[in-house]
Amino acid sequence: DTIGDNLDRTAARVPDGEALVDRAQGLRYTWAEFVAEVDSLALGLLDLGIAIGDRVGIWAPNCAQWTLLQYATAKVGAILVNINPAYRTHELEFVLNQSGVRMLVAARSFKTSQYAEMIETVRPNCAGLETVVITDSPEWTALFVSGDVERVRARQAELSADDPINIQYTSGTTGFPKGATLSHHNILNNGYFVGRLCGYTEVDRVCIPVPFYHCFGMVMGNLACTSSGATMVIPAPGFDPKLTLEAAAEEKCTSLYGVPTMFIAELALPDADSYDLSALRTGIMAGSPCPVEVMKQVVERFGMTEVTICYGMTETSPVSTQTRADDSLDRRVSTVGRVGPHLESKIVDPETGLTVPRGTPGELCTRGYSVMLGYWEQPEKTAEVIDRARWMHTGDLGVMDDEGYINITGRIKDMVIRGGENVYPREIEEFLYTHPDILDAQVIGVPDERYGEELMAWVRLRDGVSELTVEAVREFATGKLAHYKIPRYVHVVDEFPMTVTGKVRKVEMRETSVKLLG
Ligand code: ATP
Ligand code: MG
Repeated sequence: DTIGDNLDRTAARVPDGEALVDRAQGLRYTWAEFVAEVDSLALGLLDLGIAIGDRVGIWAPNCAQWTLLQYATAKVGAILVNINPAYRTHELEFVLNQSGVRMLVAARSFKTSQYAEMIETVRPNCAGLETVVITDSPEWTALFVSGDVERVRARQAELSADDPINIQYTSGTTGFPKGATLSHHNILNNGYFVGRLCGYTEVDRVCIPVPFYHCFGMVMGNLACTSSGATMVIPAPGFDPKLTLEAAAEEKCTSLYGVPTMFIAELALPDADSYDLSALRTGIMAGSPCPVEVMKQVVERFGMTEVTICYGMTETSPVSTQTRADDSLDRRVSTVGRVGPHLESKIVDPETGLTVPRGTPGELCTRGYSVMLGYWEQPEKTAEVIDRARWMHTGDLGVMDDEGYINITGRIKDMVIRGGENVYPREIEEFLYTHPDILDAQVIGVPDERYGEELMAWVRLRDGVSELTVEAVREFATGKLAHYKIPRYVHVVDEFPMTVTGKVRKVEMRETSVKLLG
């Protein structure tokens, strides 16, 4: 199946079910209305001469227009290029040129981002960019053409599920983002299986505050909904904890998504417990290590009793492991589950490439339908991560137990070696979350003459707490953690440096720390 065919099937099955709710714009579509809009936009793209494999960029925060374009491009076989809403001119120009965008659809502006102006600035430097359409302009409306839908069907019939359909740039947590090229087959199946493991049917309503530009939003969100008939609910264009809980309550959502930091922000709202979240059954936490404490709280306070954790990366469409509702609660809060349907996982010694015994940490590798076609026009970079046997080497450290449950201990690049001992920051972070004054904690290694590296904890404090000394933290940890795992430095901050996808940029934290320590 292609994404367009799959959407048509859902719309034929539940035409009157609700497909999409965009709360900020007050837009609501049934599946029949949604497909009619998608087809009409697809006709507009055909009229513009968009060919199979042409790149069409989208640069906007979450909105109905984003989703309509996602499915219209899939129907005409154009490759959607997701552009990070936080980009500025330099990054925009790079992405437009690197992926060869022919047509760009963008919001006029969002908060302080003047998209339309920035596009005009870079346009002279982007030779391949022929058409720019701003979503609140008459040109956008004009793209919705009424006409013979058979022309769209004919194009759909020409497509192959193995065609590239999407270039998704990675979050850029560890360096410059790479453009993962994904096929219908990659992402449609991934969305389908994620939805199936969450038990979605047409009665489910999924609250999606995570950005569409990233696979969490567009695959685990949108594609999981379109393949199961569940409703996509967009609480707001950008993330806002209050608007998210409001949407979950008022729309009677059964599922709520977020990266850990989003859930932390929602749980910390003074009125967090006053929303009627009685419809909430499940949800997904993913994207970075999910603290056990935070998982427990969403189960207890938000009633997300079936909440799952997903682990994955843009390069694998993204999900490769997921916890399931019938896993024990203990496993659901503390592991990333087992490998997903039709996928394989193994853990190897990064030096030798050989599989390590169960219980031994090593690099997690993934193989199967979800592995990307490659990084767009970067074959040498692709060869660094996908080997001859098609295993994707994730760069993440994991441990697999005897029953196949996997624990992610962090990124290889983030592991700290202190005086010859391997220290996994994740373990210390989990411990720090149990301190009553600490809201959020991140641990990094900083250079040290004596030990090679020393541990430094960056912490955000709970409301009403103004200070936390390194002595207090060390005292709290003494007797509970081995001496070499106790942070040498503690740095109190209001916010961590973050990517738009809600990942903490440890690279930047390390740079700042080195300066701080002089
Ligand atoms: P870049 O590759 O550009 O540095 P990135 O790796 O953060 O950025 P993504 O593809 O968005 O870009 O994120 C994938 C990474 O997120 C994984 O490799 C892993 O490190 C982390 N991750 C995702 N889910 C989880 C999870 N459940 N637990 C721990 N880490 C996770
Ligand atoms: Mg990565």
